[in-house]
Amino acid sequence: MSDIERDPEPPTFADLDIDDRVLKALSDVGYESPSPIQAATIPPLLAGNDVVGLAQTGTGKTAAFAVPILSKIDLTQKSPQALVLAPTRELALQVAEAFGKYSAHIPGLHVLPIYGGQSYGVQLSGLRRGAHVVVGTPGRVIDHLEKGTLDLSKLSYLVLDEADEMLKMGFQEDVERILADTPEYKQVALFSATMPGAIRKISKQYMHDPVEITMKSKTSTASNISQRYVQVAHQRKLDALTRVLEVEDFEAMIIFVRTKQATEDLAEKLRSRGFSASAINGDIVQAQRERTIGQLKGGALDILVATDVAARGLDVDRISHVVNYDIPHDTESYVHRIGRTGRAGRAGEALLFVAPRERHLLKAIEKATRQPLAEMQLPSVDDVNAQRVSKFGDSITESLTSDNLALFRKMIEDYEQEHDVPLADIAAALAVQSRDGEAFLMAPEPPPAPRREREPRERPARRFDDGPPTRSRGPEGQELATYRIAVGKRHRVVPGAIVGAIANEGGLRRSDFGHISIRPDHSLVELPADLAPETLEALRRTRISGVLIQLQPDSGPPSGRPRGGRDDRAGGKFQRDRDSRKGPRE
Ligand code: AMP
Repeated sequence: MSDIERDPEPPTFADLDIDDRVLKALSDVGYESPSPIQAATIPPLLAGNDVVGLAQTGTGKTAAFAVPILSKIDLTQKSPQALVLAPTRELALQVAEAFGKYSAHIPGLHVLPIYGGQSYGVQLSGLRRGAHVVVGTPGRVIDHLEKGTLDLSKLSYLVLDEADEMLKMGFQEDVERILADTPEYKQVALFSATMPGAIRKISKQYMHDPVEITMKSKTSTASNISQRYVQVAHQRKLDALTRVLEVEDFEAMIIFVRTKQATEDLAEKLRSRGFSASAINGDIVQAQRERTIGQLKGGALDILVATDVAARGLDVDRISHVVNYDIPHDTESYVHRIGRTGRAGRAGEALLFVAPRERHLLKAIEKATRQPLAEMQLPSVDDVNAQRVSKFGDSITESLTSDNLALFRKMIEDYEQEHDVPLADIAAALAVQSRDGEAFLMAPEPPPAPRREREPRERPARRFDDGPPTRSRGPEGQELATYRIAVGKRHRVVPGAIVGAIANEGGLRRSDFGHISIRPDHSLVELPADLAPETLEALRRTRISGVLIQLQPDSGPPSGRPRGGRDDRAGGKFQRDRDSRKGPRE
């Protein structure tokens, strides 16, 4: 059987008319081919169309809008040409950093993040110097617009990133205001994981005939492939993989990573740990690639570390396992990847590494393939050691049939008589020699550092209730304290607006929030107990709906009056009050 199937060729970045300098930067960062959202979005954006893209984090959506913008930017114009609005300061920084990476070969291009919580000074000098691309959170962008320090009159590109999150955080009015304040003839790209009515409305009202991009994925997975996933943090993936390699009974394995560089790095690390592994990626010349695949087919090689493109259509019956070391960008890649095992009617095993922040991609895969993946626990140190002992026994059994046995037996017998040492000791000494100083058993894991009690993972979000805010731990186990802010029902404030403003001005994450209880003229918010003095100071001066919130630790209910009111947790779903007209202020 041929080792290559004829799959439709995916486009390359070079097919997409991207500016050469950006192309070079993409090659430097090691992207081999566009992810599906990039392949679908870059051409219409380059052609000047408005685009609505249904895409989540992890799909490669940042490059999907950054690459076309950078390809078209005019360096001679000093006032901002591109504005990206992002719901949180983390995302704004991440997007600004990505623009920086993709523009590494465009000298003189300036990207400026502006977000709540950072001093105005840095942002003002950045704006004065001239920024071609501004990436900001909505509240801070409005502040600069009001102060007259941000000039959007020559804006050509506006991106709404994670639009649904922005609305959930109460930024709808701010976003609409920015949209209305920018020139009529600009290109707008909107990315959102979901398409609620409010976003449809924005796209209808502020976008011109947008091209809508929803990925249609190939979603059928073969029933002879068993699919599992392991939860593992990025920094522990290599350790996790080596445990899997030691304990899983595999014939040949293909391990998928995202970049060309990663194929080389990982194959090298596996070799240095004693596994026979080779890399294949789009840079490896055809002859070498065929040689490597030939070795895999013939059994001279058991582990191939590959990118999607390099492994496309690979058909080798021996591949019993596929490991998704880096989670794929989209369901279709997942289906292609795991289809490299279970060939010729055999059974196959697919294993997916999922970092905590990638759980939504796992959910998307399960939803699209309509098949839940079973969670696998990583092999323990005891499992690994039991396997090592058993393999050691097997290797002795195997060597007992060697032709050289007679010669060595004679030498050992001579040694035994001469030195009067028990045979078991001599055998043990030889085993030590063969390890070349390396430890045979894996060391037990150090006991976990004493740490604060953790809440169970995936804690369901609290709903509104009337009880007092009793929780004192956040979803990540952090200690929470109750703070009081001077806005309440009277100001028509909603939980989303509180989270949006406090998260951005205080540099907090949504998972840092506990209960939010909205009272007639104030609200109580649970936040980390150890807020830094600068954060407290910034939050004292934060405004919501134009009102100074004067955040301060809550000293408890006035005597005799029990706490009560509507409570919500930040992880829950926020709905803006229908009749609320005011937006949050960062
Ligand atoms: P994003 O969805 O934009 O947050 O991107 C998710 C991750 O995928 C980031 O680590 C990117 O660096 C990476 N990435 C984006 N595009 C590609 C690509 N074409 N090939 C490989 N990795 C990519």
